[in-house]
Amino acid sequence: MTEATVPLVDLGWQHREIAVEVAMGWDSVLDRTAFILGPEVSTFERAYESFTGLGNCVGVANGTDALELALRALDIGTGHEVIVPANTFVASALAVRRTGAVPVLVDVDPVHLLMDPSCVVDAVGPKTRAIMPVHLFGQMAPVEDLADAGGTDLHIVEDCAQAQGATRAGVHAGGLGRVGGTSFYPGKNLGAYGDGGAVLTMDDELAHRICLLRNYGSIQKYVHDELGFNSRLDTLQAVVLSAKLARLGSWNAERQAAASRYEQLLAGVDRVVTPTVACGNNHVWHLYVVRVANRDDVLRRMVELGVNAGIHYPIPVHLLGTFADLGYRPGDFPVTEAAASEILSLPMFPGISESQLDRVVDVLLEATGS
Ligand SMILES: *Cc1c(COP(=O)(O)O)cnc(C)c1O
Repeated sequence: MTEATVPLVDLGWQHREIAVEVAMGWDSVLDRTAFILGPEVSTFERAYESFTGLGNCVGVANGTDALELALRALDIGTGHEVIVPANTFVASALAVRRTGAVPVLVDVDPVHLLMDPSCVVDAVGPKTRAIMPVHLFGQMAPVEDLADAGGTDLHIVEDCAQAQGATRAGVHAGGLGRVGGTSFYPGKNLGAYGDGGAVLTMDDELAHRICLLRNYGSIQKYVHDELGFNSRLDTLQAVVLSAKLARLGSWNAERQAAASRYEQLLAGVDRVVTPTVACGNNHVWHLYVVRVANRDDVLRRMVELGVNAGIHYPIPVHLLGTFADLGYRPGDFPVTEAAASEILSLPMFPGISESQLDRVVDVLLEATGS
């Protein structure tokens, strides 16, 4: 008998847990045929505020918009620069770009692959307005050290897309900076059944501005006082997000248990470098990223053997064609570039079984040889 493939992410398990609740919630929306904003969206927003202890959650259409609107609400745009790590998903830098500002990239620390405060010092210039720490793979970047490195005049805009439920020194992602943007893309720790996102902030005035920006620049129908966007969290998605949010704590605990088992099974295996948790962080393991030599061969072999590992991300932001005009070259960010050739994401999702975890490790050991 051939064993079933172990997927990188299995969203079916989550759906089975909430299917009845979602069906009921959707029926109620469909009965009223009220599909934009409405009580389901504010119910979710208030629930996310209680979950995180952050004062304001404003639902928007996706994570990229959340970051763009956060920057725009701070009046960041053309003529400004925002410091962004080179080791992130493209959307962090894209959001900066879309405001008209220039993303100034910096390298990451070699242990956690998070934005490196010592690199920020050199990147700050007269046009710098903000730093965008990215809470990559499920743990928070050292926001307080990054803020110190940048100086008091800079805003901190956190990219929380991979960190729903993550804390640093007990504070949820989005609460250490001025504002944060998060994503509810289906595969995130808190994922919708389509696109979604939110802006998070303790600053009520900023939250009010985001409410305008997401809804054509209007707080009262047909009165438009500023250039707005259409970027709202969908009502049907809010139903899904509320159902999932009620379980997010236990689902993140399942991810943590899976990470511990990987760590245990790979202890003492020198050819696989396992990820570590930075001091003060509660890591929610959006991704479990190990490092190996000959990564491309290892990945190919694992997939052949029925384990769908992945790479997050194979091409660093500064080497993407879309940012060619920024003038970066190979060699500019050595830590990020070295990581890009070694990183390997192992299957990680709530509901992953012990036998699946064991199989992933068996296959990884075989693929890396000895
Ligand atoms: C997913 C993600 C985003 C973008 O979110 P979307 O909802 O897909 O627009 C931004 N930053 C990071 C680090 C992400 O992982």
